[in-house]
Amino acid sequence: MKKICIIYTGGTIGMTRTEDGYAPKANYLATALTHIEDLYRAPMPEWELLEMAPLLDSSNMAVEEWNRIASVIGERYTAYDGFVILHGTDTMAYTASALSFMLENLAKPVILTGSQIPLCELRSDGRDNLITSLLIAAQGKVREVCLYFGGRLLRGNRATKYSADGMLAFRSPNAPYLADAGIEIRYSEALLRTPPEGDFRVQPFEHVPIGVIKVFPGIQFDLFESIMTEQLKGIVIETFGAGNIPGNGRALLPIIKKAFRHGTVLAVCSQCPEGTVTLGTYATSSPLKEAGAVSGYDMTTEAAVAKLYYLFSRGYDTDVIKQKMETDLRGELTR
Ligand code: ASP
Repeated sequence: MKKICIIYTGGTIGMTRTEDGYAPKANYLATALTHIEDLYRAPMPEWELLEMAPLLDSSNMAVEEWNRIASVIGERYTAYDGFVILHGTDTMAYTASALSFMLENLAKPVILTGSQIPLCELRSDGRDNLITSLLIAAQGKVREVCLYFGGRLLRGNRATKYSADGMLAFRSPNAPYLADAGIEIRYSEALLRTPPEGDFRVQPFEHVPIGVIKVFPGIQFDLFESIMTEQLKGIVIETFGAGNIPGNGRALLPIIKKAFRHGTVLAVCSQCPEGTVTLGTYATSSPLKEAGAVSGYDMTTEAAVAKLYYLFSRGYDTDVIKQKMETDLRGELTR
């Protein structure tokens, strides 16, 4: 029988009511799961629950927590057939993206899930999300970091939280779902990643100074100059449409050039959830290309941020980072 490790990091699924609103409570989930009889009958795999401490609302997740989750998986990698990570929905797409890079040569399923309504409430979506994630992990068809929510299995580094209150909280607008959980769990076999060639290893992240700048009509780039050129190592700039910036880039160009001289990498993503960045299509995006910005193509901001953390933590030179930002490493971009 397959053996799956459930890692509970916090998030709505295991929260209880408090005077300040929902909050995670230590040891509560283990008891709550004993009341879900279906978790203990065929065809459910054998599973074990590991609770992280402290439990977090995922708004509080950062590099340290990603490193802890990755090392928990690393230490137990051979002991289990797959992993289900219970996580808050708010930053689940960031954690999924981060883990997709940290877990190098992953050959087992790592499925993130959670819920919009806690298990302690009548209409919780947590029960199905957990049961189906466990089944997907046990089936072992996917060998990558995925996100399961509301009947859809998404590639983790393509996912983005789309709805603050709907049950279909996640989408992956630039990548088809890996599986649909209808009456049966139907995989899109052609999309599944093939087994890796190298040995599994965990690459921890360093606290790299990374920033996300969203352009808007009237943005005064000079206000960002010192932070962009002196403090940040990696910048994701969320542009309009296919990579366009206001002012034909005139204000931004010298700042980008200066930032590059300081070893900063600037990746261009789009504010549109769907579609890709194509630098140079319009006069309003050419300056970015000339200044040396790299295209994030159709990467989500979540994936671009995680990828910058990864590449800097790997210790690559800036030129290599620029080249790898535009290369598909884990299915995170289409070229
Ligand atoms: N604020 C919660 C969290 O991200 C929301 C959720 O779990 O859905 O932990």
